[in-house]
Amino acid sequence: MKYYSTNGKAPLASLEKAVVRGLAEDRGLYMPERIPVLPPEFFAHIQTLTFKEIACTVADGLFGEDVPAKELHRIVKETLSFDCPVVPVTRSIYALELFHGPTLAFKDVGARFMARLLSHFTRTSRDRRTIHVLVATSGDTGSAVANGFLGVEGVRVHVLYPEGKVSSIQESQFTTLGKNITALAVKGTFDDCQALVKNAFMDPDLEHLRLTSANSINVARLLPQSFYYFHAYAQMKRLGLADQLVVCVPSGNFGNLCAALIAKRMGLPVKRFVAANNANDVFYQYLQTGAYSPRPSIPTLANAMDVGDPSNFARIVELYGHDWQTLCAEISGDTSDDLQIRSAIADCKRQYGYLLDPHGACAYRAVYHNLSPGEAAVICETAHPAKFKDTVEDAAGVPVTVPERLQAFMRGQKQSVPMGRDYASFKNYLSKLK
Ligand SMILES: *Cc1c(COP(=O)(O)O)cnc(C)c1O
Repeated sequence: MKYYSTNGKAPLASLEKAVVRGLAEDRGLYMPERIPVLPPEFFAHIQTLTFKEIACTVADGLFGEDVPAKELHRIVKETLSFDCPVVPVTRSIYALELFHGPTLAFKDVGARFMARLLSHFTRTSRDRRTIHVLVATSGDTGSAVANGFLGVEGVRVHVLYPEGKVSSIQESQFTTLGKNITALAVKGTFDDCQALVKNAFMDPDLEHLRLTSANSINVARLLPQSFYYFHAYAQMKRLGLADQLVVCVPSGNFGNLCAALIAKRMGLPVKRFVAANNANDVFYQYLQTGAYSPRPSIPTLANAMDVGDPSNFARIVELYGHDWQTLCAEISGDTSDDLQIRSAIADCKRQYGYLLDPHGACAYRAVYHNLSPGEAAVICETAHPAKFKDTVEDAAGVPVTVPERLQAFMRGQKQSVPMGRDYASFKNYLSKLK
């Protein structure tokens, strides 16, 4: 499979090149040249298959030309060391719980897959230099990537995060690890962190370093996120609720929604999609007006979605041939402010006994009054409520138990390198690496 750039001015790339580079030479995002369509037989008995069996079939379609089957299946099975169950919330709303991994957020899936695929390529490549993974995080990416790559040979990870703008639990998940993981506390916003990373990739003075990105711009993080949508469909089919399936994704950089859209292109029978935004709702505004107007992000309770210029927007419009109407026929949107997030957490707990996290709360609100008769919705619960303990306890009025693996992070010693938001400081840091 070859990968092309959404900017259209870079040469086609192999999977290895797309994964190692992250961004194309023209700063565009890589897209698979062709989206494989899975055979009808697969969907006819998908409900009899396990998550790992489903994921291996999907992975064969996406990566089978580029990674030997045995190796690919090992990578998939190691990645999915936890389940992604579909859990009833209301009669027609089901939560796809994506938070049962090591850092309790959905990004574990993409990050664990990417770490293993990159390590496969470093082992088979003749280039023996260290790969430096640069990752900008608004909270959960950093922890998932840092933990996914922890101890992986030949790779060093540098996590850039906006100082004081991520929760203490999130911070502890990427500042306490040591080994091949370094955290950089940037005096700025998430968008500043993302800009620093993008600049470094484009800097010819840093060409001697093997830099790559582990943000959702990387195809190795993006594409495996499609696995759990097939698994969710299988579970809904078992319940007899898959005929008019609505998939609702709380979105920030829009990698997770993009993976869901790709799943549909691969043949997954989803009726329609809902993109749930918080107050950073440039995508929602785009759906209303057809105009895309990025703007600086503002902090909200669902902070992993505080993105003012979502990087995967380029991929999503590409999937619809840059046609706003075609896109609107398949995707609708919704936006929730902090007050609405809080009341959704409270209402859902009180009426249905299900505890949402602030991101899942945006998704819940987006579908709650918006399903037609016969439709059933799967909403992505992208993080464990305990990752946002204070917000959730305050809104729901019930104590939230913190799982042991999360408490273990909290006991570690936090360490980070202070960093300005200007590119010169970051470049100085990078130029000292080997
Ligand atoms: C990253 C994240 C999101 C947003 O996902 P995107 O793929 O960037 O749209 C939503 N919820 C949580 C908990 C996250 O960590």
